[in-house]
Parts: sequence; structure tokens; C-alpha cells
Amino acid sequence: MIKDCIFCKIIKGDIPSEKIYEDEHVYAFLDINPAAKGHTLVIPKNHSENITDIKKEDLKHTIFVVKKLAPKVMEAVSADGFNIGMNNFPASGQAVMHSHFHIIPRKKGDAIKLPVQGKYEKGEIEKVKKLIIQKLKNIKLTSSQLL
Ligand code: 5GP
Ligand code: ZN
Repeated sequence: MIKDCIFCKIIKGDIPSEKIYEDEHVYAFLDINPAAKGHTLVIPKNHSENITDIKKEDLKHTIFVVKKLAPKVMEAVSADGFNIGMNNFPASGQAVMHSHFHIIPRKKGDAIKLPVQGKYEKGEIEKVKKLIIQKLKNIKLTSSQLL
């Protein structure tokens, strides 16, 4: 619980919210400014800022709840699909610094715009790949690290 975090306050009940699900680890509620009706936020109860500092257990619980809730939310609002999203760091559009997943119900032909698709210059995709691979330093996760 972080004093000035609005999502921590929502979990605690200090700020009202339209809760759709809660368990020991996770809280889910409707986004106050929805991209579409039924837009849901799923958050771990333990405070973390984003995917880089979230504890593995919190991430596991939260994403599993996302998996369970998303198709139900879709059906409830008669949508045809859904986007799962997570903004990380302000440059991505993250406004609330408490880790959260968005479930955004989608309807065929709706007007929601996703990030535009760009293009690489000639040879650029290989350079970008190299930069990322260098950062990974042959990282390989074992199943025990993953689970
Ligand atoms: P972000 O941009 O950080 O990924 O998403 C934060 C989301 O939280 C936004 O979609 C915003 O509408 C929602 N939000 C911010 N404050 C509140 C609030 O007090 N109550 C609810 N229900 N949603 C909020
Ligand atoms: Zn918080």
C-alpha cells in the first residue's frame, strides 16, 4: 500500500470503484474513462509500478484473472473480441503508477485506434535485432524460473 497511489486507495475502499471481481491477490474494476463499455482494469493488490518490478506471484495471479475475466466481460457487453493491454512507464501512456492490465472489449468495425504500424529502413531491422540480442546476453529461462 503506497500512500499516494490511487489504485491502492481503490483497493482499500478509500476511493469508490465499480468492482467486478476481488480475491486475496487481485482486484478488478471498471475504468472510469472507458475506451469501450466494459473496459476493465485488473490490478495486483500488492503495489508495484509496472511489469519490471512486479513480483512473479503477483503477475501470475493477475494475468490468470485477466484470462478468466476477459471472455466474460466480452460476453457481458456483447462484444466480439477484446484487447489486453499494459502500459509501462509514462512514455507508453501509463498514467497510474500501479501495475494494471486493461481489458478492452471490441466490436467488429468499432473506431478504436491501436498504435499505427511503421516501417524499417533497409538494414535497420537487423540492427535493432542485434541491439536487443546484446541486451539479452543469451538469456534462457528455465521452467522453474518461469513458473
Ligand atoms: P494507464 O494510462 O495508466 O495505463 O491507465 C490508467 C487508467 O486508469 C485510465 O484508463 C483511467 O481512465 C483509469 N483511472 C484513473 N483514475 C481512475 C479512478 O479513480 N477510477 C477508475 N475506475 N479508473 C481510473
Ligand atoms: Zn498502488
